[in-house]
Amino acid sequence: TKSSPNRRIWVAGHRGMVGSAILRRLAREDADVLTVGRDELDLRNQGAVHSWVAKAKPDVIILAAAKVGGILANDSYPADFLYENLIIEANIVHAAHEAGVERLVFLGSSCIYPKFAPQPIKEEALLTGPLEPTNEWYAIAKIAGIKLCQAYRKQFGRRYISVMPCNLYGQNDNFDLATSHVLPALIRKFHEAKETGAREVVVWGTGTPLREFLYVDDLADAVVFLTDHYDGDEPINCGAGSDVTIRQLAEIIGRVVGFEGTLVFDSGKPDGTPRKLMDSSRLAALGWQPKTNLEDGVATVYRWFLEERKAELA
Ligand code: GDP
Repeated sequence: TKSSPNRRIWVAGHRGMVGSAILRRLAREDADVLTVGRDELDLRNQGAVHSWVAKAKPDVIILAAAKVGGILANDSYPADFLYENLIIEANIVHAAHEAGVERLVFLGSSCIYPKFAPQPIKEEALLTGPLEPTNEWYAIAKIAGIKLCQAYRKQFGRRYISVMPCNLYGQNDNFDLATSHVLPALIRKFHEAKETGAREVVVWGTGTPLREFLYVDDLADAVVFLTDHYDGDEPINCGAGSDVTIRQLAEIIGRVVGFEGTLVFDSGKPDGTPRKLMDSSRLAALGWQPKTNLEDGVATVYRWFLEERKAELA
Protein backbone atom coordinates (compact mmCIF):
# COMPACT_ATOMS: atom_id res chain seq x y z
CA THR A 1 0.00 0.00 0.00
CA LYS A 2 1.15 3.54 -0.76
CA SER A 3 0.71 6.45 1.60
CA SER A 4 -0.91 9.53 0.12
CA PRO A 5 1.68 11.86 -1.46
CA ASN A 6 3.42 14.40 0.73
CA ARG A 7 2.10 13.05 3.98
CA ARG A 8 4.42 14.28 6.73
CA ILE A 9 5.52 11.48 9.04
CA TRP A 10 7.64 12.08 12.14
CA VAL A 11 9.54 9.01 13.26
CA ALA A 12 10.44 9.62 16.90
CA GLY A 13 13.42 7.45 17.85
CA HIS A 14 14.80 7.17 14.31
CA ARG A 15 18.33 6.22 15.39
CA GLY A 16 17.16 3.14 17.29
CA MET A 17 16.75 -0.36 15.89
CA VAL A 18 13.00 0.05 15.31
CA GLY A 19 13.03 3.68 14.18
CA SER A 20 15.86 3.12 11.71
CA ALA A 21 14.01 0.14 10.20
CA ILE A 22 10.91 2.32 9.84
CA LEU A 23 13.01 4.92 7.98
CA ARG A 24 14.26 2.20 5.59
CA ARG A 25 10.65 1.13 5.00
CA LEU A 26 9.33 4.70 4.57
CA ALA A 27 11.98 5.38 1.93
CA ARG A 28 9.72 3.36 -0.38
CA GLU A 29 6.65 5.56 0.31
CA ASP A 30 5.62 8.94 -1.07
CA ALA A 31 5.97 10.59 2.30
CA ASP A 32 8.01 13.40 3.78
CA VAL A 33 9.82 11.79 6.67
CA LEU A 34 10.73 14.07 9.56
CA THR A 35 13.43 13.24 12.09
CA VAL A 36 15.13 15.17 14.87
CA GLY A 37 18.31 14.19 16.68
CA ARG A 38 18.66 13.74 20.40
CA ASP A 39 21.10 16.67 20.50
CA GLU A 40 18.41 18.98 19.05
CA LEU A 41 15.36 17.67 20.93
CA ASP A 42 15.29 15.96 24.33
CA LEU A 43 12.07 13.95 24.28
CA ARG A 44 11.93 14.08 28.08
CA ASN A 45 11.55 17.86 27.94
CA GLN A 46 7.86 18.71 27.76
CA GLY A 47 8.20 22.30 26.56
CA ALA A 48 10.72 21.36 23.89
CA VAL A 49 8.56 18.48 22.60
CA HIS A 50 5.48 20.69 22.45
CA SER A 51 7.21 23.45 20.49
CA TRP A 52 8.83 20.97 18.13
CA VAL A 53 5.58 19.17 17.29
CA ALA A 54 3.65 22.45 16.96
CA LYS A 55 6.25 23.72 14.51
CA ALA A 56 6.84 20.50 12.55
CA LYS A 57 3.09 19.79 12.20
CA PRO A 58 3.34 16.17 11.12
CA ASP A 59 0.27 14.33 9.80
CA VAL A 60 1.47 11.12 11.40
CA ILE A 61 3.75 10.37 14.35
CA ILE A 62 5.37 6.97 14.74
CA LEU A 63 6.45 6.74 18.36
CA ALA A 64 9.44 4.40 18.30
CA ALA A 65 11.46 6.33 20.89
CA ALA A 66 11.95 4.42 24.12
CA LYS A 67 14.43 3.43 26.77
CA VAL A 68 14.92 -0.27 26.03
CA GLY A 69 17.14 -3.05 27.30
CA GLY A 70 17.44 -6.72 28.09
CA ILE A 71 16.46 -8.63 31.18
CA LEU A 72 19.41 -7.46 33.32
CA ALA A 73 19.20 -3.80 32.30
CA ASN A 74 15.47 -3.73 33.10
CA ASP A 75 16.08 -5.28 36.46
CA SER A 76 19.00 -2.95 37.29
CA TYR A 77 17.58 0.43 36.21
CA PRO A 78 13.89 0.39 37.19
CA ALA A 79 13.68 4.16 37.63
CA ASP A 80 15.17 4.89 34.19
CA PHE A 81 12.88 2.40 32.45
CA LEU A 82 9.73 3.65 34.17
CA TYR A 83 10.41 7.38 34.18
CA GLU A 84 11.94 7.84 30.73
CA ASN A 85 9.30 5.82 28.94
CA LEU A 86 6.40 7.46 30.79
CA ILE A 87 7.62 10.97 30.14
CA ILE A 88 8.47 10.41 26.46
CA GLU A 89 5.01 8.96 25.77
CA ALA A 90 3.14 11.57 27.78
CA ASN A 91 5.02 14.42 26.10
CA ILE A 92 4.57 13.14 22.56
CA VAL A 93 0.94 11.99 22.79
CA HIS A 94 -0.21 15.20 24.45
CA ALA A 95 1.82 17.38 22.06
CA ALA A 96 0.31 15.43 19.13
CA HIS A 97 -3.17 16.14 20.41
CA GLU A 98 -2.48 19.83 21.03
CA ALA A 99 -1.04 20.25 17.53
CA GLY A 100 -3.97 18.39 15.95
CA VAL A 101 -1.84 15.50 14.66
CA GLU A 102 -4.27 13.10 12.93
CA ARG A 103 -2.54 9.79 13.42
CA LEU A 104 -0.12 8.39 15.96
CA VAL A 105 1.26 4.86 16.14
CA PHE A 106 2.59 3.92 19.56
CA LEU A 107 4.97 0.98 19.85
CA GLY A 108 4.80 -1.24 22.92
CA SER A 109 5.99 -4.73 23.67
CA SER A 110 4.67 -8.21 24.42
CA CYS A 111 5.92 -7.81 28.02
CA ILE A 112 2.84 -5.69 28.77
CA TYR A 113 0.83 -8.90 29.05
CA PRO A 114 0.48 -10.84 32.30
CA LYS A 115 3.26 -13.32 33.09
CA PHE A 116 0.86 -16.26 33.02
CA ALA A 117 -1.45 -15.11 30.23
CA PRO A 118 -2.93 -18.01 28.18
CA GLN A 119 -0.72 -18.71 25.14
CA PRO A 120 -0.77 -17.58 22.43
CA ILE A 121 -1.54 -14.22 24.05
CA LYS A 122 -4.51 -12.31 22.72
CA GLU A 123 -4.87 -8.53 22.97
CA GLU A 124 -7.71 -9.03 25.48
CA ALA A 125 -5.22 -10.41 28.03
CA LEU A 126 -4.05 -6.86 28.82
CA LEU A 127 -4.42 -6.09 32.55
CA THR A 128 -5.84 -9.48 33.48
CA GLY A 129 -2.99 -10.53 35.80
CA PRO A 130 0.37 -9.71 37.41
CA LEU A 131 3.39 -8.85 35.23
CA GLU A 132 6.78 -10.53 34.95
CA PRO A 133 8.85 -8.79 37.69
CA THR A 134 12.12 -8.51 35.67
CA ASN A 135 10.55 -6.04 33.26
CA GLU A 136 7.50 -4.69 35.02
CA TRP A 137 8.87 -1.13 35.07
CA TYR A 138 9.11 -1.01 31.32
CA ALA A 139 5.79 -2.86 31.01
CA ILE A 140 3.93 -0.43 33.27
CA ALA A 141 5.23 2.50 31.22
CA LYS A 142 4.18 0.81 27.97
CA ILE A 143 0.73 -0.01 29.38
CA ALA A 144 0.40 3.69 30.26
CA GLY A 145 1.27 4.50 26.63
CA ILE A 146 -1.55 2.25 25.38
CA LYS A 147 -3.89 3.93 27.85
CA LEU A 148 -2.81 7.38 26.65
CA CYS A 149 -3.78 6.47 23.08
CA GLN A 150 -7.10 5.08 24.33
CA ALA A 151 -7.78 8.11 26.53
CA TYR A 152 -7.16 10.66 23.78
CA ARG A 153 -9.31 8.56 21.45
CA LYS A 154 -12.13 8.38 24.02
CA GLN A 155 -12.03 12.01 25.14
CA PHE A 156 -11.04 13.73 21.89
CA GLY A 157 -11.71 11.23 19.11
CA ARG A 158 -7.99 10.99 18.27
CA ARG A 159 -7.08 8.16 15.89
CA TYR A 160 -4.06 7.02 17.90
CA ILE A 161 -3.23 3.31 17.86
CA SER A 162 -0.88 0.94 19.68
CA VAL A 163 1.14 -1.90 18.14
CA MET A 164 2.62 -4.63 20.37
CA PRO A 165 5.62 -6.40 18.82
CA CYS A 166 7.16 -9.59 20.19
CA ASN A 167 10.95 -9.69 20.84
CA LEU A 168 12.64 -7.88 17.94
CA TYR A 169 16.09 -8.16 16.39
CA GLY A 170 17.91 -6.52 13.52
CA GLN A 171 20.46 -3.97 12.36
CA ASN A 172 21.34 -1.20 14.83
CA ASP A 173 20.51 -3.39 17.81
CA ASN A 174 22.46 -2.94 21.05
CA PHE A 175 25.32 -5.47 21.32
CA ASP A 176 26.55 -4.40 24.76
CA LEU A 177 26.52 -7.58 26.83
CA ALA A 178 25.37 -5.89 30.04
CA THR A 179 22.32 -4.15 28.58
CA SER A 180 21.39 -5.99 25.38
CA HIS A 181 18.67 -8.51 24.63
CA VAL A 182 19.48 -12.17 24.18
CA LEU A 183 19.79 -12.35 20.38
CA PRO A 184 22.44 -9.66 19.85
CA ALA A 185 24.21 -10.82 23.03
CA LEU A 186 24.54 -14.36 21.68
CA ILE A 187 25.68 -13.19 18.23
CA ARG A 188 28.46 -11.28 19.92
CA LYS A 189 29.36 -14.05 22.38
CA PHE A 190 29.53 -16.73 19.65
CA HIS A 191 31.48 -14.46 17.35
CA GLU A 192 34.04 -13.60 20.02
CA ALA A 193 34.33 -17.25 21.09
CA LYS A 194 35.04 -18.21 17.49
CA GLU A 195 37.61 -15.44 17.11
CA THR A 196 39.48 -16.31 20.30
CA GLY A 197 39.11 -20.07 19.93
CA ALA A 198 37.14 -20.38 23.19
CA ARG A 199 35.47 -23.77 23.64
CA GLU A 200 32.46 -22.60 25.63
CA VAL A 201 29.80 -19.93 25.41
CA VAL A 202 27.81 -18.94 28.49
CA VAL A 203 24.05 -18.59 27.98
CA TRP A 204 22.06 -17.00 30.80
CA GLY A 205 19.32 -18.88 32.58
CA THR A 206 18.24 -22.46 31.95
CA GLY A 207 17.77 -22.25 28.18
CA THR A 208 14.15 -23.39 28.54
CA PRO A 209 12.23 -20.07 28.30
CA LEU A 210 10.46 -19.60 24.99
CA ARG A 211 10.66 -16.37 23.00
CA GLU A 212 9.11 -15.19 19.75
CA PHE A 213 11.53 -13.23 17.54
CA LEU A 214 10.49 -10.92 14.71
CA TYR A 215 12.93 -9.35 12.26
CA VAL A 216 12.68 -5.59 12.71
CA ASP A 217 12.23 -4.86 8.98
CA ASP A 218 9.11 -7.03 9.11
CA LEU A 219 7.85 -5.01 12.07
CA ALA A 220 8.55 -1.77 10.18
CA ASP A 221 6.49 -3.06 7.27
CA ALA A 222 3.63 -3.93 9.65
CA VAL A 223 3.77 -0.48 11.26
CA VAL A 224 3.44 1.27 7.90
CA PHE A 225 0.63 -1.12 6.96
CA LEU A 226 -1.23 -0.52 10.24
CA THR A 227 -0.90 3.25 9.92
CA ASP A 228 -3.31 2.95 7.01
CA HIS A 229 -5.28 -0.18 7.88
CA TYR A 230 -6.01 -0.16 11.58
CA ASP A 231 -7.92 2.29 13.70
CA GLY A 232 -9.00 0.27 16.73
CA ASP A 233 -9.01 1.18 20.38
CA GLU A 234 -7.33 -2.07 21.42
CA PRO A 235 -3.62 -2.61 20.89
CA ILE A 236 -2.77 -4.95 18.01
CA ASN A 237 -0.20 -7.74 18.32
CA CYS A 238 2.59 -8.12 15.79
CA GLY A 239 4.58 -11.33 16.08
CA ALA A 240 6.41 -13.92 14.02
CA GLY A 241 3.81 -16.60 14.75
CA SER A 242 6.07 -19.16 16.40
CA ASP A 243 8.60 -19.25 19.22
CA VAL A 244 11.84 -21.07 20.06
CA THR A 245 13.55 -21.97 23.33
CA ILE A 246 16.61 -19.97 24.27
CA ARG A 247 18.61 -23.17 23.75
CA GLN A 248 17.25 -23.51 20.19
CA LEU A 249 18.02 -19.85 19.55
CA ALA A 250 21.59 -20.41 20.77
CA GLU A 251 21.92 -23.40 18.44
CA ILE A 252 20.68 -21.39 15.46
CA ILE A 253 23.09 -18.53 16.21
CA GLY A 254 25.95 -20.98 16.77
CA ARG A 255 25.28 -22.48 13.32
CA VAL A 256 25.08 -19.09 11.60
CA VAL A 257 28.27 -17.83 13.25
CA GLY A 258 30.11 -21.13 12.85
CA PHE A 259 30.94 -21.75 16.49
CA GLU A 260 31.66 -25.41 17.22
CA GLY A 261 32.14 -25.46 20.99
CA THR A 262 29.63 -26.16 23.75
CA LEU A 263 26.91 -24.18 25.50
CA VAL A 264 27.07 -23.61 29.25
CA PHE A 265 23.86 -22.51 30.98
CA ASP A 266 24.25 -20.06 33.88
CA SER A 267 21.18 -20.64 36.03
CA GLY A 268 22.38 -17.87 38.36
CA LYS A 269 20.97 -15.45 35.77
CA PRO A 270 17.20 -14.91 35.52
CA ASP A 271 15.00 -16.76 33.02
CA GLY A 272 12.30 -14.11 33.03
CA THR A 273 8.88 -15.06 31.81
CA PRO A 274 8.56 -18.74 30.75
CA ARG A 275 6.79 -17.96 27.49
CA LYS A 276 5.25 -14.99 25.67
CA LEU A 277 4.02 -16.15 22.30
CA MET A 278 1.52 -13.69 20.91
CA ASP A 279 -1.64 -14.37 19.00
CA SER A 280 -1.24 -12.13 15.95
CA SER A 281 -4.40 -13.34 14.19
CA ARG A 282 -6.01 -9.91 14.34
CA LEU A 283 -3.15 -8.52 12.24
CA ALA A 284 -3.22 -11.55 9.92
CA ALA A 285 -6.95 -11.02 9.37
CA LEU A 286 -6.19 -7.50 8.12
CA GLY A 287 -3.93 -9.09 5.49
CA TRP A 288 -0.39 -8.76 6.83
CA GLN A 289 2.18 -11.54 7.34
CA PRO A 290 5.88 -11.52 8.32
CA LYS A 291 8.36 -12.56 5.62
CA THR A 292 11.68 -13.37 7.27
CA ASN A 293 12.41 -16.66 9.01
CA LEU A 294 14.62 -16.63 12.08
CA GLU A 295 17.70 -18.29 10.58
CA ASP A 296 17.74 -15.93 7.56
CA GLY A 297 17.18 -12.90 9.79
CA VAL A 298 20.01 -13.93 12.11
CA ALA A 299 22.31 -14.45 9.11
CA THR A 300 21.51 -10.93 7.84
CA VAL A 301 22.15 -9.39 11.24
CA TYR A 302 25.42 -11.33 11.60
CA ARG A 303 26.64 -10.00 8.22
CA TRP A 304 25.73 -6.48 9.38
CA PHE A 305 27.54 -7.06 12.70
CA LEU A 306 30.70 -8.14 10.83
CA GLU A 307 30.58 -5.05 8.60
CA GLU A 308 30.23 -2.79 11.66
CA ARG A 309 33.17 -4.48 13.35
CA LYS A 310 35.27 -4.04 10.23
CA ALA A 311 34.30 -0.35 10.02
CA GLU A 312 35.20 0.16 13.70
CA LEU A 313 38.64 -1.39 13.23
CA ALA A 314 39.33 0.53 10.01
P1 GDP B 1 13.21 -10.76 27.88
O1 GDP B 1 12.57 -11.36 26.68
O2 GDP B 1 12.56 -9.51 28.35
O3 GDP B 1 13.36 -11.77 28.98
O4 GDP B 1 14.66 -10.24 27.46
P2 GDP B 1 16.10 -10.85 27.05
O5 GDP B 1 16.20 -10.87 25.57
O6 GDP B 1 17.11 -10.04 27.77
O7 GDP B 1 16.17 -12.33 27.62
C1 GDP B 1 15.48 -13.39 27.05
C2 GDP B 1 15.95 -14.72 27.64
O8 GDP B 1 17.26 -15.01 27.14
C3 GDP B 1 16.05 -14.75 29.18
O9 GDP B 1 15.61 -16.03 29.61
C4 GDP B 1 17.56 -14.59 29.39
O10 GDP B 1 18.00 -15.14 30.63
C5 GDP B 1 18.11 -15.40 28.22
N1 GDP B 1 19.51 -15.13 27.89
C6 GDP B 1 20.46 -16.06 27.65
N2 GDP B 1 21.65 -15.52 27.43
C7 GDP B 1 21.47 -14.17 27.46
C8 GDP B 1 22.36 -13.06 27.30
O11 GDP B 1 23.56 -13.19 27.07
N3 GDP B 1 21.80 -11.81 27.40
C9 GDP B 1 20.46 -11.64 27.66
N4 GDP B 1 19.98 -10.39 27.72
N5 GDP B 1 19.61 -12.68 27.86
C10 GDP B 1 20.12 -13.92 27.75
